[in-house]
Amino acid sequence: MASDTARQFANPEMPGYVGFANLPNQVHRKSVKKGFEFTLMVVGESGLGKSTMINSLFLTDLYPERYIPDASEKIKQTVKLEASTVEIEERGVKLRLTVVDTPGFGDAIDNTDCFKSIIHYIDEQFERFLQDESGLNRRNITDNRIHCCFYFISPFGHGLKPLDIEFMKQLHSKVNIVPVIAKSDALTKKEVMKLKRRVMQEIEENGIKIYPLPDCDSDEDEDYKEQVRQLKEAVPFAVSSTTQTLDVKGRKVRGRLYPWGVVEVENPEHCDFIKLRTMLITHMQDLQEVTQELHYENYRSERLAGKAVPRKMSTGLSEKERIIQEKEAELQRMQEMLAKMQEQMRQKQSDDSRQATPSPTNAPLPQSD
Ligand code: GDP
Repeated sequence: MASDTARQFANPEMPGYVGFANLPNQVHRKSVKKGFEFTLMVVGESGLGKSTMINSLFLTDLYPERYIPDASEKIKQTVKLEASTVEIEERGVKLRLTVVDTPGFGDAIDNTDCFKSIIHYIDEQFERFLQDESGLNRRNITDNRIHCCFYFISPFGHGLKPLDIEFMKQLHSKVNIVPVIAKSDALTKKEVMKLKRRVMQEIEENGIKIYPLPDCDSDEDEDYKEQVRQLKEAVPFAVSSTTQTLDVKGRKVRGRLYPWGVVEVENPEHCDFIKLRTMLITHMQDLQEVTQELHYENYRSERLAGKAVPRKMSTGLSEKERIIQEKEAELQRMQEMLAKMQEQMRQKQSDDSRQATPSPTNAPLPQSD
């Protein structure tokens, strides 16, 4: 009996083996059990193919009941933010993916203020996280902070528009921006290269900091190094997307069918769709780390330095907690008022007594109690 137990807990074939080499497996098991959370934001003018790309990236229909407003509605429209969450499972690993769409971006006649609501939304998620972190139940915090923002650039211009530059400038210290050239099938290979060069040049000239893919460690394997090199080279990713599957010479491919041929979205010779997906999946952890260590820390230190919570920002408290907080604040106000009134009465009493008993000269001062 005793020897059975000994065999269960020790490894007689490997004396001196403590077993902490197994720690990574424990972390892995725990993470798989808990699942992963990721929030992606997509920004860009309507019609650039954002919804199509999100649906094709994650092979899901994230917007089953989408309503597209007509031009007259768009004139009055402000940017609305809509979060849709899906739980995707692949080989037992669960991913809770939230995609935040920004319909109305760039649609109005005057777009001066159209990124204000996006900044507000990002800050609100940081604030909620900050409140949750300092609350009682820190274990089960849902992380809704934006980990990555795909910024869609039109393929029809000659580079970035003033709106693109202004958006990225205002947001680059709050979120990981990944620039994407939309509908790249509208351009020839040469035109894509030209537009990419132009966009990168303008990004640099304007001091915009897009998400930097991390450098590889020297001991990383060669295939991985090559993959990262190609990903870095592909920025801004020029993508085409579709959710349609076609039959091309006996092969099932996801592609866009034109009279002159098929654009295969998952073919790296045709576009960067697969590179963008690889970037997102292989760097999900890094995108989360940069969000936590850079963007969230920026927000946190600003808040600790006394910057006020943005106006109308909800604090992430439940209705019950909010009522309790309000009652506590009211109680404190009443206590302060009471203390003030008591002080005034004491003052008045001592004044009255001084007037009632005229003190002879050189008489000792009244003793305070
Ligand atoms: P969103 O408003 O940015 O979400 O754009 P949608 O995803 O609704 O796409 C608008 C239109 O563009 C639809 O007719 C799509 O079929 C089309 N579309 C989407 N992706 C692409 C693409 O990669 N290339 C081309 N040429 N058209 C696309």
